[in-house]
Amino acid sequence: MTQTAAPAGTETRIESLYIDGKWREAESGGSFEVRDPATGALVGVVSGGGRADVRAAIAAAAEALPAWGARTAYERSAYLYEIHRRMTDRSEELAQLMTAENGKPIRAARIEVQYAADFLIWFAEEAKRAYGRTIPSSRADQRFLVMHGPVGVVGAITPWNYPVSMITRKIAPALAAGCTVVLKPAEQTPLTAIEVFRILDEVGLPPGVANLVTAADPRPVGQEFTTNRAVAKLTFTGSTSVGKLLARQATDQMKRVSLELGGHAPFLVFEDADPVHAAKGAAMVKVLNTGQACISPNRIYVHRSIEKAFVGALTERITRMKVGSGMSDGVNVGPLIDEDSVRRMERQVADAVAKGATVETGGARLSQDDLRAGNFFAPTVLTGITPDMDIYREETFGPIAAVTVFDSEAEAIAMANDTEYGLASYVYTHDLSRAMRVAEALKFGMVGINDINPTSAAAPFGGVKESGLGREGAREGLLEYLDTKLVGIAI
Ligand code: ADP
Repeated sequence: MTQTAAPAGTETRIESLYIDGKWREAESGGSFEVRDPATGALVGVVSGGGRADVRAAIAAAAEALPAWGARTAYERSAYLYEIHRRMTDRSEELAQLMTAENGKPIRAARIEVQYAADFLIWFAEEAKRAYGRTIPSSRADQRFLVMHGPVGVVGAITPWNYPVSMITRKIAPALAAGCTVVLKPAEQTPLTAIEVFRILDEVGLPPGVANLVTAADPRPVGQEFTTNRAVAKLTFTGSTSVGKLLARQATDQMKRVSLELGGHAPFLVFEDADPVHAAKGAAMVKVLNTGQACISPNRIYVHRSIEKAFVGALTERITRMKVGSGMSDGVNVGPLIDEDSVRRMERQVADAVAKGATVETGGARLSQDDLRAGNFFAPTVLTGITPDMDIYREETFGPIAAVTVFDSEAEAIAMANDTEYGLASYVYTHDLSRAMRVAEALKFGMVGINDINPTSAAAPFGGVKESGLGREGAREGLLEYLDTKLVGIAI
């Protein structure tokens, strides 16, 4: 397949819809701009797909489905290995593009490309392990066979905070399972997605197997994904409010849905933990992706007896963070994605302070020198956080560490679980029994024990309660794209 699109990352307008193996403009001729959140500079102009384009992409995916599903798992796996190889070869290019459109520090962008590539290799391997099973029957003349087959055409919607890994986390298992896909990336970060699709094009994936629709307005895409009979499944990563909306829309046709939504992670530091080590972990995971991660700790609970040591170490580390453009040396905190996010930080800090919280460090927008044109907010520590404050309930999605004190294990567990969310949680303790007790009691999909990064392509990622449905990565990640069929045979 030849590539006809202009290189991504330039100011040239890009034909960025990839439908049925061809690059093309939106049917409406529309386009939209992509801007660098650190400077406001124009990074690219891409096609603004609409409903007609999504329909065309779904039709192409439906047409490609039977042949793709009929390939052997080994053949599909071979494509994923090749996509992995090319992504690894192009990792620096992808990382730079991601920093330009998302703002994350280049080192973090490189780590993300690696994480994204991990899903390709993991599912290249898992493709061959879509095992069924046989089940003994109570009837001597009966046999049971459990078989798995691809769900069908998948509509995928991804967010801007992890522009490349959220794509491979969905596309790799879908292709491995024998599904075909239409992807709509976030409007803030389409360039990385385009680059991923260039790779899919280069490896010669059959036309229609993977399709890309970039769009300025996501709503018609969501409408089409959830109402078009040719789409069997919707996979979405993003906010809880949009996830609920899409799930509601998808109910009418009982489509399968996987939803990876918001979080409000508790971070528990018990009296037997090393407060300095815990503070180091809290600081690192709090500023991960400038706090724009669904696993970001939103409520930090520390035992009263070590509060002073913990808050001191946390404040010292957070204050030391270097904020700036992701391309600058030594920067560990980049800009927020947009101006609205900066306003949300200001609002949550003002609300907390008005209700009695103390700003230990930060607390305001940064606009000196080079930071003036970007969406920068100072890494912040707030103490004295109480349940009546907005930050205690609302997802912050920014670099604010909000600290609350507790007196007993039971109280800490109750406070940690006092949320509608249930994605990640963190526990710092040196007591093995307590670690097990608390891990079992926390109503979250993931628990990190003295560990701020309980994520991997090999491990199931996902939430309970309003944090979503289904799991991504691991063996579970493949099952999300497989239907289960029981065959009962009378012999
Ligand atoms: P965030 O607030 O973090 O941007 P969103 O849930 O708004 O999270 O966005 C995540 C993804 O969902 C993006 O790709 C966005 O374009 C898409 N999206 C937002 N609103 C809708 C909608 N109404 N229908 C379909 N997709 C949507």
